[in-house]
Amino acid sequence: MLFLKKDEYVIPQQLVKGEAGEFVRITDMTNPKALPVDPTFPFNQNLQLFLSGRKLLLDEIPFSLEEIHNHYLHGYVDYRQGVIFDGKRLYCCRCGNKDAVFFASFHCARCKKKCWYCRKCIMMGRVSQCTPLIIWTGPTPHFSFQKSLKWQGTLSPSQKDASIKIKEAVRERKELLVWAVCGAGKTEMLFEGIEEAIQSGKRTAIATPRTDVVLELTPRFQQVFPDIPIASLYGGSEDRHRYSPLVIATTHQLLRFHEAFDCLIIDEVDAFPYSADEMLQTAAELARKKNGSLIFLTATPKEVWQAECYRGKRNCVILPARFHRYPLPIPSFGWCGNWREKVKKGQIPLKILQWVKSRLVSGKQALIFFPHIELMEQALPYFQKMDGRIEAVHSEDPNRKEKVQAMRTGDIPILLTTTILERGVTFPNIDVAVVGAEDDTFTESALVQIAGRVGRSPQFPTGDITFFHYGITRAMIRSRNQLLRMNRQARMKGLIDS
Ligand SMILES: [Zn+2]
Ligand SMILES: [Zn+2]
Repeated sequence: MLFLKKDEYVIPQQLVKGEAGEFVRITDMTNPKALPVDPTFPFNQNLQLFLSGRKLLLDEIPFSLEEIHNHYLHGYVDYRQGVIFDGKRLYCCRCGNKDAVFFASFHCARCKKKCWYCRKCIMMGRVSQCTPLIIWTGPTPHFSFQKSLKWQGTLSPSQKDASIKIKEAVRERKELLVWAVCGAGKTEMLFEGIEEAIQSGKRTAIATPRTDVVLELTPRFQQVFPDIPIASLYGGSEDRHRYSPLVIATTHQLLRFHEAFDCLIIDEVDAFPYSADEMLQTAAELARKKNGSLIFLTATPKEVWQAECYRGKRNCVILPARFHRYPLPIPSFGWCGNWREKVKKGQIPLKILQWVKSRLVSGKQALIFFPHIELMEQALPYFQKMDGRIEAVHSEDPNRKEKVQAMRTGDIPILLTTTILERGVTFPNIDVAVVGAEDDTFTESALVQIAGRVGRSPQFPTGDITFFHYGITRAMIRSRNQLLRMNRQARMKGLIDS
């Protein structure tokens, strides 16, 4: 859209009634200063609740342009640039993209000019040079909920440590890394920190890479915070337009927020897509208030962060033990020769065959991880010769959910998988093998996560993990060392019993 430029303010073209003047795109103005807030203006509270802390396209706002503009004229709303072009470089104000490769231009029917738009965040609706982003500049809604946490459970000693550090980070608006082994019980240790935040009127968000996790966390938090309205946001969710002190969202949804959160908790900070995608890191930066606290949760921090933790250079708390007080199972390495060539020839390395057979005989379920879909699918028929119920699953598999469910009910004895089952899923009593652990897909963090699938339940706290390989890699060694170190720490602190 275009704006008519006046001295002190702008008018959207659609609302211009006969006034003359120059029509310009938002990108061609330096951001006009937001107008001063008129305290006597009877602003629309529904618009306040809807827009506060957001950064939205006009189409995303279910209020009329007249009403939005009226709020703008009284200092409650501002029009901001979507894409900036300074003649040389482009910048997307929604996702922070500045990589020329991710911009494209077209002859725009709206602004009648060559119009650049951002391809990087296009799945959230197109932001171009003539697209304003609308933000709320009036007072933010207040909320106060006292004693909102209704939880009867108890924290393990290491969860308690983490909980105290989280509360402190919330109170003092600090950054904190919570390094918790798989199975430490991350969710419970957040409860008191979130209560503290909400009690002091701090808007809080938990962002996680995967929709499954949003769907799983929302009812858990709603149960322990029954009086708090929680917004649960992911692609296609219906809660999209609801103001709430606590937001649980996929990392992508943060792109629609603007300096909204006093406390931002980022779950699985090491996981795709957050770590791989600069955009989501920028989104997290922009969604948080400038002095807000930032809490990262992970079982597998990147190498630089690990080093910073050990040198005391990073504010962190380490939870080295699982909730059930058994040590983490340690992977063993098994050389299996050139397994790729074998699979292509229609064979499976003998060691792997033996490993599978012994699980089939004892009736213990297992996951077998492969680095690539094609090799896994080539290998599947040979596994099925041993037992016809063996299945394979990958990210594009339309029957993915059904297969995971069949694994849960025990109808599938052994499931071949790519790294999609590396995290998030829990089967109570399984062994795990990795075929081709030397492949680049299997980073230190991926291998730690895969090993973390074993021994999760207190009824079955142990299990076998074998990395079958054609050459030991640094990632394999580092992942094993990381697990051994956690067990040592847990023993020293008396957090495990054996
Ligand atoms: Zn963008
Ligand atoms: Zn345009």
